[in-house]
Amino acid sequence: MDKEYLKKLAENPNFIPGIYNYCDRWCERCAFTCRCMTYALSKDDIDDPQSQDINNKAFWDKLHGIFNVTLEMVKETAEEMGIDLNAIDHEEFAKQEERVHERVKDQPYTKAAFAYVEMVNKWFESNKDLLKEKGDELRTLALVQIPGTSPDRDALKIQDCIEVIRWYQHQIYVKLCRAASGMIRGEHENLEYSLQDANGSAKVAIIGIECSIAAWGGLLNHFPQQEHTILDLLVNLKKLLRQVETAFPDARAFVRPGFDNANQNS
Ligand code: SF4
Repeated sequence: MDKEYLKKLAENPNFIPGIYNYCDRWCERCAFTCRCMTYALSKDDIDDPQSQDINNKAFWDKLHGIFNVTLEMVKETAEEMGIDLNAIDHEEFAKQEERVHERVKDQPYTKAAFAYVEMVNKWFESNKDLLKEKGDELRTLALVQIPGTSPDRDALKIQDCIEVIRWYQHQIYVKLCRAASGMIRGEHENLEYSLQDANGSAKVAIIGIECSIAAWGGLLNHFPQQEHTILDLLVNLKKLLRQVETAFPDARAFVRPGFDNANQNS
């Protein structure tokens, strides 16, 4: 990959600018793959599975190439904007970032999102046998074909709920950290920030929370014996949702490029 290739790719009028900034990165389920520059770039990786394997040299070579091109483009843009990158006090900058990072981790909603990550891990760890038993039960039902049962459909539903929960489990925390970082940076005069970006990240987190709530509800239907633990998770997610909505009251109104204004982009 080189700079010229990237620039040429970016000129494609079919791409929706910035769509990848406020999506959930679940490309397999995304309806906008053909309109996303990030997806177009990652398609090279899909064609070359080695460059997706963290243990393979091809993966690190690819990453190295992306960093180099990005750095080159950042320098070029800084020059165009008259910004002297050498004039930045790197030590002070690092200290400021560390202070922001500490405050990010200290927000009630980031703490709650982090705790949720652990709760989910614990739930799957302690219910490994239950999930296996359910799989065995559905396989047996599929073999004997009892009228009125739909084991295949049930298996797909359970699988989908688990995939959704696992997909958003960490993403909620990551997106909330980004949103918190934007908000905190806004309180410092000399730090660059964007309230819009904070709202956009918070909106993605909100969507992740809502999808997770629905998925846990789906699991509850199939594992009524786990009512107590699942309700506990749901209560925590609902509480987290309220915390995020309070901290970012304008998040829901944020318009995600492509997803929230698809008609304008078609
Ligand atoms: S917009 Fe869709 S295709 Fe692009 S990175 Fe996000 S999920 Fe993947």
